[in-house]
Amino acid sequence: MSTLDNILEEIKKAETIVILTHENPDGDAIGTALALYHSLQQMGKNPDVIIPEYPRIFAFLPKTDEIKKESAVEKYDLAISVDCATIKMLNGFANYFENAKVRVSIDHHSTNTMFGDLNYVSPDAPACAQVLLGILEYFNVEVTKDIGTCILTGIITDTGGFKYSGVTSETFQFVAGLMEKGINVSKVYRKVLQTKTRANFELTRLAADRLEFFEDGKVAFTYITKEDEEKVNAGSGDHEGIVETGRDIEGVEVSIFIRETEKGCKVSMRSNEYVNVSDVCLLLGGGGHIHAAGVSMQCSIEQAKEKILRQIKAVI
Ligand code: AMP
Ligand code: MN
Ligand code: MN
Repeated sequence: MSTLDNILEEIKKAETIVILTHENPDGDAIGTALALYHSLQQMGKNPDVIIPEYPRIFAFLPKTDEIKKESAVEKYDLAISVDCATIKMLNGFANYFENAKVRVSIDHHSTNTMFGDLNYVSPDAPACAQVLLGILEYFNVEVTKDIGTCILTGIITDTGGFKYSGVTSETFQFVAGLMEKGINVSKVYRKVLQTKTRANFELTRLAADRLEFFEDGKVAFTYITKEDEEKVNAGSGDHEGIVETGRDIEGVEVSIFIRETEKGCKVSMRSNEYVNVSDVCLLLGGGGHIHAAGVSMQCSIEQAKEKILRQIKAVI
């Protein structure tokens, strides 16, 4: 029996199911979680999806009003984590996962620690949403307009609008199929990727102003503080995309962006060609993908900057 057969078996058996994803959820996290929510309902289940906070640009997705912030269920029969590489990244809601009778991880991070009892991880997939798409086909779930819109959101956000190297012909075949179903792909694209909140614009402007270059212009570095976020009245996800400002400058191989948090700082790294930022982040205690990775560090922005630049110097 394949892992997918085992996962299907557990879904059929379970009376209570919870869907979870990583902290600071992005479009892939929310899109995949909601697509799975709709799909399990189609399979006759009544799952919970728990996401305490998410960027309001995703509020238009079908059934976001059914997302729970917490749950009174202490021990679910089945917990499914999507788009999450480690148990630590489930953060405040890891207890729902750890207490469940059976735990499943569906993901696309090469640094996934296989923290589930059953793990279905495809590191080559450009988005977890695309991994789920394959699973739904296997399960004979009909990809409705609602499910398609959620999956499309995950794919668009994680591929930077179909432009990263992980995109496959399957990605475009899926999008073509959605168009045939009458989904306005251009409209979803604009909503989930193109339109920025005013706070995001203000933070991007601040970060651009502070951007510094290192290693002959091959490294770009910038940051934002808690104070900056307060000043612009930033909400969940308003820091997203700032790291791309440095990445897209000619000559830059690695872009580093640090965001000050309650516990220290959250680092985002992006590379263009030859540097594996997932390896760099793994060394510092984080992980991710070859060209997009991150790590949380319990230190000041200055200390993190020094540590990171030392690591990058060795690989640039
Ligand atoms: P971000 O810079 O937060 O957009 O993250 C880039 C990629 O790295 C995403 O796929 C994240 O899920 C992953 N990532 C970020 N932080 C961590 C971490 N601490 N551990 C493992 N993966 C991470
Ligand atoms: Mn994600
Ligand atoms: Mn993802």
